[in-house]
Amino acid sequence: MIRKCYKQAEFVGRIQQALGVALDRVSCSIVDRQGMAKVMQGAGWSRNDSAGVVGFQVDEQVYVLDSAPWTVLHELIHRAGVNSDRLSRFVAEGLTESIAQELKRSSDEHRPTYPVETRWVQQKLLPVLGMNATQLGRALASDPDPPRKLASLMAAAKPGTNERALRRQLGPQKTGVPSFNRMSVTRMKGVMADDRGSERVGLVLLLASAVLLVPPLLTRSQGAL
Ligand SMILES: [Zn+2]
Repeated sequence: MIRKCYKQAEFVGRIQQALGVALDRVSCSIVDRQGMAKVMQGAGWSRNDSAGVVGFQVDEQVYVLDSAPWTVLHELIHRAGVNSDRLSRFVAEGLTESIAQELKRSSDEHRPTYPVETRWVQQKLLPVLGMNATQLGRALASDPDPPRKLASLMAAAKPGTNERALRRQLGPQKTGVPSFNRMSVTRMKGVMADDRGSERVGLVLLLASAVLLVPPLLTRSQGAL
């Protein structure tokens, strides 16, 4: 029996309309803790990595933990093209969360994760661009080269930005490492420590005189989870 993910059809319709992309053949599976560990191991993660993961997206496939239906919207936004296969994980997670907040219609549809990333996107990036999250998501989701697109938007908003360096640093950190969603700050720390790209994004923004403040990457204790 195939169990559809929570509000899957509704979310797909809403995301398609908001981001202007066709979500064909969405495959969203509900898995238990053990199933999550198994699919993540299949994608190259260790069993330990799967602790605290509530949603996971690899290629066409989305997996959601049975106890966390509130992450379906987040994962389907990744599936629409805002994800760390295509863009810096820091920006991809912050933007995905920001879009989810704009698209959710009730509290059962979303719970916040990635508070630092989200705050940076909402309070630094979007005001500079003069866009809301859905508008930026729409610009990036269907673009064949999201780092180039975002770098060009930022350079247009802040003349003097080193667009080439920015583009490089906005790129996905590792090829083949898929997106996933964690609910524990502790585990997120582990991910970030392994993920130098986020620090590089902040650094290059500074070097590029982009006037976007460096995300407080090393002070994660204020997490709102
Ligand atoms: Zn995510």
